[in-house]
Amino acid sequence: MNIHEHQAKAVLKSFGAPVADGYAVFSVDEAAEAAAKLPGPLWVVKSQIHAGGRGKGKFKEADAGEKGGVRLAFSPEEVYENVKAMLGKTLVTHQTGPEGKQVNRIYIEDGADIATELYCSLLVNRETGQPAFVVSTEGGMDIEDVAESTPEKILTINIDPTQGVTEADCEELCKALKLEGTAKEDGFKLFPILYKAFTEKDMSMLEINPLIVMEDQHLRVLDAKVSFDGNALFRHPDIMELRDTTEEDEKEIEASEWDLAYISLDGNIGCMVNGAGLAMATMDIIKLYGAEPANFCDVGGGASKEKVAAAFKIIMKDPNVEGILVNIFGGIMKCDVIAEGVIAAVKETNLSVPLVVRLEGTNVEKGKEIIANSGLNVIPADDLDDAAKKITDAVKK
Ligand code: GDP
Ligand code: MG
Repeated sequence: MNIHEHQAKAVLKSFGAPVADGYAVFSVDEAAEAAAKLPGPLWVVKSQIHAGGRGKGKFKEADAGEKGGVRLAFSPEEVYENVKAMLGKTLVTHQTGPEGKQVNRIYIEDGADIATELYCSLLVNRETGQPAFVVSTEGGMDIEDVAESTPEKILTINIDPTQGVTEADCEELCKALKLEGTAKEDGFKLFPILYKAFTEKDMSMLEINPLIVMEDQHLRVLDAKVSFDGNALFRHPDIMELRDTTEEDEKEIEASEWDLAYISLDGNIGCMVNGAGLAMATMDIIKLYGAEPANFCDVGGGASKEKVAAAFKIIMKDPNVEGILVNIFGGIMKCDVIAEGVIAAVKETNLSVPLVVRLEGTNVEKGKEIIANSGLNVIPADDLDDAAKKITDAVKK
């Protein structure tokens, strides 16, 4: 789950990280009031969307102005004008895709005098299985370019989870970021704070770009992008409250209500599978036959007829879906239950695209019989290979 920048900053602040004062506003009316609460002379007006690259982004609407989604203002009036220009408009950044994202809230922040912009993130290093800081002196707006053209300027520092962030780690981080004097002293405080927030809140990623050294040599978290491990969210009701469903894929929200593991993808073949491993294998084999999956969907081990029907309907909501492959291995799950769910959903949705069903396992004969007798146009398949071939062929026609 992702949260907004202003929420991420509030979380980090609660752990003691240095962040500026600021207010999130949802309407133009609130803008002037929020600006008046900050001292000036510099205000930063920041579009809140679940995507980075806002500074260099462009609004679709001409009346939002030429400037990007992060704007500097030098008076409360200018804050007001910029909030008015950006609120409700669609911001396109290199992370939103061409359709962009609507700006429904804006964060107004006390501006900082920047001496240097650095990059600092925390994630789980999959190669070592440890939390790791990824840092670079080349912070600011283009870390993707740095990774591409000068990857040697990005350093990874693994943290031993049994020790936490040690003095030696802080020393290494400060050296990598060329922090000295006051900035270094701040670094020794900040890195353990970030690590504590990352681990205690079960974050999967914490990205601060930029982390700045201010003119007075103190460090400040200027931007913050945080995502949380969805499987650990049940432990953090406070974080769960920060969820903004307007930023999420409608199909994924509906799927989460049914406790289905569903992720939207770009392809044209809808997949309904039980078990994450089998779902991955199904996606792989679809690609092997030259097509692309439209989604990942794991209905789980013991799905009911209703849950199967719900999954089916969610898959059908994707306008890119030109064919569906149902691939079920009945273990705990019984093939006849799946078959009934599929038939019910097909009837309800007036399915207009080819459907290939491969069933195997418990009650497979009963399941196949239900499908054969349904009178519906379902293409049966014998195994995974056969199923992938049949659905890719059917979509090509
Ligand atoms: P992003 O473009 O979505 O990553 O948004 P950021 O929050 O990183 O802001 C983009 C850029 O705006 C930063 O890299 C800074 O150069 C600039 N910026 C943001 N806040 C301030 C501020 O308080 N003072 C100044 N001078 N510039 C800022
Ligand atoms: Mg940024």
